[in-house]
Amino acid sequence: MTVRTRFAPSPTGHLHIGGIRTALYSWLEARRHGGQFILRVEDTDQERSTQAATEVILEGMHWLGLDPDEGPFFQSQRFDRYRQVTEQLLDQGKAYHCWCSQDDVNQMREEQRRRGEKPRYDRRCRDHPNPRPGVEPVVRFRNPIDGSVVIDDLIKGRVVISNEEMDDLVIARGDGSPTYNFAVVVDDLDMEITHVIRGDDHFLNTPRQINIFHALDAPLPAFAHVPMILGDDGQKLSKRHGALSVLEYRREGFLPEAILNYLVRLGWSHGDQEIFSIEEMTSLFNIGAVNKAASAFNTEKLMWLNQHYIKSTPPKKLALLLKPLFEEQGVDTSTGPALAEVAEANHERAKTLIEMVEKSGYLFEDFGEYDPKAAQKQLKAGIRQPLASLRQALAGLGPWEREPIHEVVTTVLEEFDLKFGKLAQPVRVALTGSTVSPPIDITLVLVGRQRSLDRLDKALAYIDGIESNS
Ligand code: GLU
Repeated sequence: MTVRTRFAPSPTGHLHIGGIRTALYSWLEARRHGGQFILRVEDTDQERSTQAATEVILEGMHWLGLDPDEGPFFQSQRFDRYRQVTEQLLDQGKAYHCWCSQDDVNQMREEQRRRGEKPRYDRRCRDHPNPRPGVEPVVRFRNPIDGSVVIDDLIKGRVVISNEEMDDLVIARGDGSPTYNFAVVVDDLDMEITHVIRGDDHFLNTPRQINIFHALDAPLPAFAHVPMILGDDGQKLSKRHGALSVLEYRREGFLPEAILNYLVRLGWSHGDQEIFSIEEMTSLFNIGAVNKAASAFNTEKLMWLNQHYIKSTPPKKLALLLKPLFEEQGVDTSTGPALAEVAEANHERAKTLIEMVEKSGYLFEDFGEYDPKAAQKQLKAGIRQPLASLRQALAGLGPWEREPIHEVVTTVLEEFDLKFGKLAQPVRVALTGSTVSPPIDITLVLVGRQRSLDRLDKALAYIDGIESNS
C-alpha cells in the first residue's frame, strides 16, 4: 500500500502554527513511507474563503518546504463531483430530501431542550417526505440509527461512538453546495487518502464521516487526530502567546528549519533529542508516537532553535534571506557592506533575522541621533584626544581590513594607556549611535573607511559642542 496523506486547510483565516504542525505531520508521514502528500484547499464556504488566505497557504507551505506531491486541489472546482455522489446516495436511498427550514429545525431543538432531550434534527422528512412548494430541499444523509462507530485513532486509541449520538447530517444545501463533512469524504475517497491526519477539533466529525464512507462502500482510511496547541497559560493559542500566522514568521526573520524543528518536537519526541534535520525528522517521525495530551506553545524555545539555525546557516545563504527583509524596512543596501559580511558579523548572537536587520541599519544609512544615554556616558571630553588620534591613524591606513585596523586600535590604547572598552565603546557610539554592535574592528570594517572617518568627525564635533556649552 502506498501511503497517501493530505493537508486540507480552509482558506477562511490565517494559516496558523497549529495548522502548519498538522501539515508537517502529514508531510512527514508520507515522506517516511515514501508515499505522497496532497494539498487540498477546502474552499466550499465561498462567503468566508478568500483569495488572500489561499495565497498565504500556498506561499507559506512552499516557504517551509512542505511542497505537495499532488495538488493544490480546490474543492470549489469539484462541485459537479459532489453533486454526482449526492445523486448516487439519493438513488440508493442512503440520503433523502428535507424541506424543513432553519426555523423549523431551531424550533424542534428548542422543544427537545425543554423536554430535556439532546437537541437534534428529528428525522421528520426521513420517512415522510413533505415537499413544500417554492422550497429547495437540502439533502440529508440517512445515518444508521442503531449500532455504533469504532474509531481506532492512531493517536487517541480506540473510541466508540453510538449512532444514537448522531443526527442526519445535511450533505448538500438547498443551492446544491456540499457541506464540509460530505466534501471531505468524497475527496479523501477520490484522492485515495490512506491516512487522515488532522486537528483534534475535527474528532467529532470523524464518526459521521466514517458512516458516509460505509454508505459509499469505500475502504476506510486510518485516522489520526493531533491534539491542540495551547498557550503557556493553558488557554486556546492566540497571537497574545506569540503565535503568528505562517508568513508573519518569515517577516519576523524565522528560518523554516527552526519552525519545522520546533513544531516536530511540539507533541512528539525521540529520546531527549532537540535538534532534528529534515532528514532525521523524515526517518524518525511516527504519527503513532504523537502525544495524546495538548502541547503548550513556547516562544522562547522557538527563539532558541531559530538562533541555533541562524548560527549554523552559511552567511551567504543568510544574505539571500536578509535582502528582502532589509527591503521591507525600506533600507537601501546597495551602498554598504555585502550582506554576507553583515550576516557573518552578527550570526552568533541574533535570535531572528529581523533583529539582525534592525540592528544593522547604521551600516547602510545615517543613524540620526545618538542614543542619549550612550552619548552622555561615552562621548565625553576625556576621550576626545584618543578618538582624534585614532581617526588620524585610520585615515592613513593601507587596506581597510580587520587586522591592520585592530593594530591601529591597539596602538592608540597603548599611547593613551587605556583599557580596551574605554576606547571601544566611544568608537561604537560614534559609528552606530548605540552601544551594541559586533566587535569594534569588525564594526569599523563593515561601516567602511569613509563613513567611519565621517562619523568619528561627527563625534569629535559633538564632544566639542558639549565642551563649549559647559
Ligand atoms: N478544512 C478543515 C480545516 O481547515 C480540515 C478538514 C480535514 O482535515 O479533514 O479545519
